[in-house]
Formats: sequence, structure tokens, C-alpha cells
Amino acid sequence: MYTILHLEPGMLYKKVIQEICAELGAKYLGASGARDAFEILKKDEVNLILTAMELEGGSSYDFIRSVNESGFRTIPVVVFTGNDSLEDRMRMYELGITDYILKTSGADTIRQNLATFRREDTITLKMKDLSYAVVDDSKVDRKVVERIFSFHDIHNVDYYESGRSLDESEKEYDVYLIDFVLQDTSGDRIIMKLRESGSNSVVIAISGIDNVKTISRVLSIGASDYIVKPFNYDLFIARLKTNIRNYLLFREVEQKTLALEKMAITDTLTGLFNRGHIYERLNQEVEKAERYGSKFSLLMLDIDNFKKINDNHGHQFGDEVLRVVADVIRLSTRSVDICGRYGGEEFMVIFPEVQLPGTIPVAERIRRGIEAVRFTKENVKVTVSGGAAEYAGSIEGLVKKADLLLYKAKENGRNIIQY
Ligand code: GH3
Ligand code: MG
Ligand code: MG
Repeated sequence: MYTILHLEPGMLYKKVIQEICAELGAKYLGASGARDAFEILKKDEVNLILTAMELEGGSSYDFIRSVNESGFRTIPVVVFTGNDSLEDRMRMYELGITDYILKTSGADTIRQNLATFRREDTITLKMKDLSYAVVDDSKVDRKVVERIFSFHDIHNVDYYESGRSLDESEKEYDVYLIDFVLQDTSGDRIIMKLRESGSNSVVIAISGIDNVKTISRVLSIGASDYIVKPFNYDLFIARLKTNIRNYLLFREVEQKTLALEKMAITDTLTGLFNRGHIYERLNQEVEKAERYGSKFSLLMLDIDNFKKINDNHGHQFGDEVLRVVADVIRLSTRSVDICGRYGGEEFMVIFPEVQLPGTIPVAERIRRGIEAVRFTKENVKVTVSGGAAEYAGSIEGLVKKADLLLYKAKENGRNIIQY
């Protein structure tokens, strides 16, 4: 849980921050001075320190300095004060505070500020779950990066001393840190190769070369950022974080888009393709058949006496039957076969590259599979009838033929597939 440690001798602002924490769903821990603050830091995992200027037993200067010299120095420190003197602000920033919030700025602004820290903290957490590749031919520089990473609790890092060894590993990473004067291969090549393969990973070029043309070029071939050596450690992490924030956002959008695309073509009840998609695929198969002369077949299935099942056992049970029938269809076909629900209790399977005789064993497997299912709760048996036909030049003709055969199967007593 996100925890804020608040150092404040007075009651009034303790209450204000307490309320904001409750709204943000963050845990509030209060202290009046440095001494009880350190007691809390030792006991609890604190994500943010918010401190007034004047504390019980002295000024916050000494407290901030002690934090920065302790094992808690990675926790962001925000000064929360009514004092708006520029001089004091400068002194605080020089001491290494992360931000400065004025008590006079109003609850909304304070809440927004704290919420931003919380968001950043989530990114910091997510950073630990990503994978990193560091490519640098200098052992000393690799050590520097290693120290920064372990300081921030990032351990999922592989170190490479050459571009070739990265190539040979054939591994993929979320984040690449690439030194730009590699002995065996230029950093350009690694970046271009990554981008050509469609990778959206964070790729940060690190280099001692501080010239505008090189930097522009490296960014233009697809580097996410360029950091000049020697770099400030905190700034390095800040830049890394910014790039990772974008990467994570991009990944989220990508995942959502994929989910939406999938939703648009899926029948929610059964998970099979929906009517729209099955017709789209049918048209694709026709195009293939016309262009390459390939064959394909179609199987139409309809559950027998489904109305009665609904009437006797309820609509919910009817839905369960639909799901089970879909499962049997899915399990009885190959992954290249295209299975969909195209109406209430009607299903379609397209068999690419399959001629009519080839559909018989599959169709029979489906029919027998459904017949064999025991719906123990209601003790009913479910059967399907079907019609199968091969494409012969017209999509309407194909659907009509399969439909006619299905009708015939019903006439002939159901639980039959007609060919
Ligand atoms: P036949 O053997 O001739 O196919 O008879 P049938 O009763 O299966 O055929 P009919 O077309 O008369 O009835 C289909 C029934 O399917 C009617 C409708 O209420 C039901 N149905 C359609 N969609 C759904 C659904 O999503 N869930 C449930 N539970 N029932 C559905
Ligand atoms: Mg029907
Ligand atoms: Mg039916």
C-alpha cells in the first residue's frame, strides 16, 4: 500500500493530509519530529516523505540531510510549508528535496501533487519487473550502471560487453542501454536491427560523444533517448523512468487495441467467431479459391429441438448447452479451421484446403462428441444436425446447399449430418 510519512508538529495540517490520504487510498503515518519519523521509517515501508519546514525539536534541514545520508535516501522528500521565500526554496532544492508544496495552494492542488507522486511510484515498481540489457565494452561503465540499478532494486539485468554477444544471446528485452563506442559493432546497427524487427522496447544510447549531429542521428534511427557520459545518477534514472512511462503506456494501448479487435470478432457467449467475422472469413476463402484454385468446405450445424431444451430447463441451461456445443466443436477441429456461431443455436465451420470427403470424419466427430455429453444436472441429451458442402463457384450457392442438407438432416430424423 502506498504510504505517506508526514512530519508536522501542528494538528491542523495533519488533518488536511490525513483526509487527502484517505481520498487517495494511501496510508497516512504522522510524526511530529525527526526522531519519531526515523522510528517509523525503520518499521514501515514508506513511499513518500512529506515534511513541514519547522519540526518539533528543530528545523527540517537536519532531518532531510539525515535521510539523504541514510538507507532511506531513495524515498522522495517533499517539503510542505507556508513559507514561500525563494531563498529557502533554493536551499531546500540544493539539499536534494524532490518537490515543494505550499500549504496555501489549496486541498485540490495538494491532492493532485501527491497523486502524481503515487503514479510515479507505480512506474518505479513496474520498472523492477522489466528486463534490461546493458551493452558496454567498458567494464568500469558496466559497473557504474550495475550500481545504479541495484541501488534502485532493479536486478533483472543482463550485461554484454559487445553487440555481438547481445546478438548471439537472441534474447529480447524491454529496455536496452547501449554504449555508443562499442569496439566490434556500432550502436547504430543494434538500434536499427531492433527497430526493423518491430521492437518497441526502450532503447537508450549512452555515449561520451556530445555532438549535435551524432545525437540527432542516433535519435532519428530510433533511439528513445541519448544520455551523455558522465551522467548524474538521479538524472539517469529520471530519464529512464520517463522513457519507461511512455513504453508502458504504449504497451497498455497496444494490449487494449488487441482486446478490442478480438472482442469485435468474438461471440461473447461461446467464444467462437461471431456472424460478421465468419462471413468475412468465408469471403476470404472465396477469394483464395478464385485466385489460387484452392478448395474449401463448409459445415452448418443446428442444435436439435433446442426450443424444447429452453422451455423445459430454462434459458440459462440453454446457454450452458450452447457453450458446451461450442467447446466440442472447438476441440474436434484443427486450429486452421474457422469455427463460428452465426445464429441463435446455429454454428458454422469453414474448412480451408479441405474437400467434401475430408469434412466427414470431423463432422461425425462433432456430432458424436455432442451426443456423448452428459448434462448430469438436468439429465438431458443434446444432439445436432448438420449439412456439409464444398465450394463450387458461388458463396450463396454454398450456403444454400449446406442449409438445404441441414434441412434434410432434420427431416430424416435429426442427429445426422448430410453430405
Ligand atoms: P430444430 O431441431 O428443428 O432445430 O428445432 P429447434 O427447437 O432447435 O429450432 P427453433 O429454431 O424452433 O428454436 C431455436 C431456439 O433457440 C429458439 C430460441 O429461443 C433459442 N435461442 C436462440 N438463441 C439463444 C440463446 O442465445 N440462448 C438460448 N438459451 N436460447 C437461444
Ligand atoms: Mg435453428
Ligand atoms: Mg435447432
